[in-house]
Amino acid sequence: MERDIYDEDHEAFRDLVRDFVKRYVTNEARARWDADGEVDRATMRAAAEAGILGLSVPEEHGGGGMLRDYRFRTVVNEEIVAAGAGSLAGAFGIQDDLAVPYLVHMGTPEQQAKWLPRMATAEVIGALAMTEPGAGSDLRGIRTTAKKVDGGYLVNGAKTFISSGATADLVVTFVKTGEGNRPDAFSILLLEDGMPGFEHHRKLEKLGFHGHDTAEMSFTDVFVPDENLLGGVEGHGFIQLMTNLPLERLSIGVAAVAAAQAAFDWTLAYTTERQAFGERIADFQNTRFRLADVAATVDALWAYVDRAVVAYGNGKLSAEEAAKVKFWTTEREWEVLDTCLQLFGGYGYITEYPIARAFADARVHRIYGGSNEIMRDIVSRKLVGRR
Ligand SMILES: Cc1cc2nc3c(=O)[nH]c(=O)nc-3n(C[C@H](O)[C@H](O)[C@H](O)COP(=O)(O)OP(=O)(O)OC[C@H]3O[C@@H](n4cnc5c(N)ncnc54)[C@H](O)[C@@H]3O)c2cc1C
Repeated sequence: MERDIYDEDHEAFRDLVRDFVKRYVTNEARARWDADGEVDRATMRAAAEAGILGLSVPEEHGGGGMLRDYRFRTVVNEEIVAAGAGSLAGAFGIQDDLAVPYLVHMGTPEQQAKWLPRMATAEVIGALAMTEPGAGSDLRGIRTTAKKVDGGYLVNGAKTFISSGATADLVVTFVKTGEGNRPDAFSILLLEDGMPGFEHHRKLEKLGFHGHDTAEMSFTDVFVPDENLLGGVEGHGFIQLMTNLPLERLSIGVAAVAAAQAAFDWTLAYTTERQAFGERIADFQNTRFRLADVAATVDALWAYVDRAVVAYGNGKLSAEEAAKVKFWTTEREWEVLDTCLQLFGGYGYITEYPIARAFADARVHRIYGGSNEIMRDIVSRKLVGRR
């Protein structure tokens, strides 16, 4: 089904992204990112230079000024994922959808002026650190503390599973500044790589997204100056997190749909090429029916997620709607990827094939950004009027 959310500007932008993909998303580059467990900085800087990264940074700070128009980011996701580079798409997403928006929406003018121009060029890579070894879904259970001292805070604790966590220069960090677990007991501090006592630890070995770093980090008496308190207000950490959650969840939804589309395209091409029993795999009725199912699912996914992209642009994507989008698209993505992989036979299991890598990458979409159980909890509480 033809989609209708893009105009000429988005299609012209797509050409830019395709040009970047042709130059930088080579088999050699993908293999290097996977082997290193991270995307190299030169590629990130080239993407920023090409104008396809740093999209969410306002123009006055040197970026694309497209934080509200998520259609541009959707184009980036489509093209990079179609090129079999989920890890690169993930690295872009952390910068543009997770780290930068905190500064744009909630940073003080000084924080914005200090960080955003360098985030626009990828000289500074950002990350968002909420999860801890003992607290993921239940964020009020975090134990990283920030104790007020003269001129700043002393931070102690540890975070885990942090995307871009090994390479980040600036970590938007969720900490406890008060007693108990009331919402106003939490704040967000901007931790900088190189602050004494701030250590990035090992990159975690993952099932998928091998080319994008996910790391642990620890803080031992890290002195963080007052000027690094996000927005200059203590006790607003929870509200600040809530502000960006719809975008974070929309971003996972779009990545999931882009992966489902790519899987369908690869599978159609493969099954109309490969032969068995003297016929194309696509000529078996089972294959045709599966392809028809997937084609309809992908159409429905785009119709839904495109609507969410537009709603986000109009400032109308609520936390509950974003949670619905996140769990529904990622569940369908998983079914699509599984169906498609099956149609590749043994080659579907070989990581040389993009379908195998996309399948492994897809699994975490149902877990991170708020697990799909937590998403259903948010949606269903609203439905039944339970707090
Ligand atoms: C590759 C990867 C990248 C990540 N990137 C980041 C990042 O950049 N920044 C960051 O802060 N975090 C990140 N995370 C962490 C991620 O957001 C958490 O793993 C996720 O929120 C789940 O938390 P948990 O792992 O502690 O699981 P738990 O909270 O321990 O949950 C375990 C299981 O219990 C279920 N469960 C928990 N509570 C409920 C409930 N109330 N009702 C029903 N079921 C429930 C969960 O759904 C899950 O199935 C990342 C994780 C991974 C794997």
